[in-house]
Amino acid sequence: MHWFWRKYEKRNLFQVYDERKTRTDMVLKRQILLFKIANTTVKISPSVFINILFLWAFLSWLTGIRHPERLIWERILTGVLASLLLLIADLGHTLAHIFSARYAGAPMDEIHIPSGMPRTIYHDNHVHPSVHRLRSFGGPIFNLLGLVISLVWHTLTLPGSMANDLATWSVIGFTFILVGSLTPLPYVDGGTMLKWTLVEHGRTLSQADAIVRRVDLILGALLITLGLVLLFWHMWWWGLLILAGAAIVIASGLGILR
Ligand SMILES: [Zn+2]
Repeated sequence: MHWFWRKYEKRNLFQVYDERKTRTDMVLKRQILLFKIANTTVKISPSVFINILFLWAFLSWLTGIRHPERLIWERILTGVLASLLLLIADLGHTLAHIFSARYAGAPMDEIHIPSGMPRTIYHDNHVHPSVHRLRSFGGPIFNLLGLVISLVWHTLTLPGSMANDLATWSVIGFTFILVGSLTPLPYVDGGTMLKWTLVEHGRTLSQADAIVRRVDLILGALLITLGLVLLFWHMWWWGLLILAGAAIVIASGLGILR
């Protein structure tokens, strides 16, 4: 990766992207071209950096709430490093797809990273279902490896220490992205894996899409039940988190979220 960074930074770093190439680019015309990894163009929107600032401020504040004995610089440092770990879990997931796409023999052309969910762009998307599925494995495998390393790190650190805090954030970040990406939503890896497995087994594209949406509605109903049970048991935070997840899953099943 370092080699590519060096090779491209002189020509492409912070060049304003020519917005008139494709429709997706028209929507994202304020993005900047940042670098290339293995011939995949990675474009990051400037608003991402504002999100990171908010995340850093929030995590520093939260550290102060949980550890009032810590000095200001310790809270700020924990916030910076915890934000970095969450960023690695999130962006590392997307970038890992570059390598699984190469492995599948259908390289990715572009990655757009706006302030919301990153998008992977393949100019030629007419590939065999098994290739679609193989491409989707890179991100989850990256998160699984990161989670295992974070859990080992967590067990090696003293409870209450800054290192233990950071390991906890790392576990949270990698778990969240792993679980989120494997949920069978139409626009994440879990949905891609399910859809193309169905197509490979003889379903048409529209049949496979309909089944994925039906699975989401059933999953959403189960999550609502679980969320309500947790609220009944006074586990407020978990209950609300599961209900928020249920809302996303059901909105995806109804086609409101795409
Ligand atoms: Zn993914």
